[in-house]
Amino acid sequence: MSASVRVRIAPSPTGDPHVGTAYIALFNYVFARQQKGQFVLRIEDTDRTRSTLESEAAILRALKWVGLNWDEGPDVGGPYGPYRQSERAAIYQEHARLLVDKGAAYPCFCDEARLAALREQQRAEKKSGGYDGLCRRLDPAESKRRAAAGEKHVIRLAMPKEGEMIVKDGLRGDVTFQLATIDDQVLVKSDGFPTYHLANVVDDHLMKITHVVRAEEWITSTPKHLQLYLGFGWEPPQFFHMPLLRNTDKSKISKRKNPVSLDYYRDAGYLPEALLNFLGLMGFSFGGDREKFTLAEMVEAFSWDKVSLGAPVFDLEKLSWLNGHYVRALSIDELLARLRAWRLGDEYLLRVLPLVRERAERLDQIIPATTFFFSGDLDYSTVLGELVPKGKDAPATATALGELADELDNVRAWNAAALEPAVRAFAEKLGWQAKELFSAVRVASTGRTAAPPLFDTLDVIGKDLVRRRLRLAATALRAKKT
Ligand code: GLU
Repeated sequence: MSASVRVRIAPSPTGDPHVGTAYIALFNYVFARQQKGQFVLRIEDTDRTRSTLESEAAILRALKWVGLNWDEGPDVGGPYGPYRQSERAAIYQEHARLLVDKGAAYPCFCDEARLAALREQQRAEKKSGGYDGLCRRLDPAESKRRAAAGEKHVIRLAMPKEGEMIVKDGLRGDVTFQLATIDDQVLVKSDGFPTYHLANVVDDHLMKITHVVRAEEWITSTPKHLQLYLGFGWEPPQFFHMPLLRNTDKSKISKRKNPVSLDYYRDAGYLPEALLNFLGLMGFSFGGDREKFTLAEMVEAFSWDKVSLGAPVFDLEKLSWLNGHYVRALSIDELLARLRAWRLGDEYLLRVLPLVRERAERLDQIIPATTFFFSGDLDYSTVLGELVPKGKDAPATATALGELADELDNVRAWNAAALEPAVRAFAEKLGWQAKELFSAVRVASTGRTAAPPLFDTLDVIGKDLVRRRLRLAATALRAKKT
């Protein structure tokens, strides 16, 4: 292959840095490095209500932590920037106009009420959904006049409605889609912002992306993307849709069954190179039955024919096993350096110590009193009874802790001032007294009944570990014999 390979990841900054992003980034990175090409990071923040700069910063930080560096991106710049879609609005508008002029897209003036009625009617008639093309049949001169007069509208892609479209996938071969099932996708919303589809294709083209390596869940969007390439008269890139990561029960990886935030893996003491090795095993076989390999070795050995489509299982036990090999291979000096960079550095210790100083009489008490600040998952076998507040039972407490873990996902600024009202409000919703819930949360997050002030403690332990511990405590309670 030529030396001009250019690949990208295009995360949307709408939440925690996801382990699936690192998985896709890894395969892009490895392919780019092997081909002496470029690896681009583009931020897809077209969803203005859900995108945040904090999430973007967390994604960049987490990808740096795992050790995947990009050649071009919003932080490092590059020749095809800006690399944040919110800064490219004019480019998308201009391209949408181009498509409308070519007849490959059209303004649609249907309002929400008409679309809702249409969906209702389609449901009643048990017909397949999708836009019925009313505005597609308008005379182009008239639509142009109405749009120019400022009438509220979106821009839709004019998909052909008959026949098939074939997606050539580098891993799957030809995948056939029936065009009748594909909607006239909205490309530009009524507020003038592009949807993912338009921005993604325009940017992949303008950023000279040669290979689109992304998760399987996007394959159903690819016919729309191919139609866009056709409309613009551009050569499409090659597509590789990677198999989705699975829970051990084979369902799509989800935060209910596995921690999905990269920050969890950092805080729970996994080494980034072990996590990368593990993600490399998801779909890629090195050769023979070799399971332990470095990033550099994967770059050297990589080829697409070593990537299989079998559902890769993200199994934490296997990750821990592999991590153990990496930990034991560290020199003692390196192990010490890793521990310091993890939670034995000044920065973290200076957050922990104020919380325990008040109760200490001697220095030797400090370490035993703070072990839960330096632990990943906790064992609840000796505190199961204490997890359940007086007057409550184990199933109700398990439900409360599990639901609270979900609820706390919405707490964006993770600090004591934000956590206390969130947990109080949840207690009220449950119909529990605040102190009942506080005591269950204390035991779940620290493994003890007596601990430093609860919300400061949760703040310092960190969001992902706290939520994981609430879930694990809930699981332990469910398994409890009554
Ligand atoms: N913004 C999409 C995401 O969040 C990118 C999908 C793609 O790679 O095309 O994953």
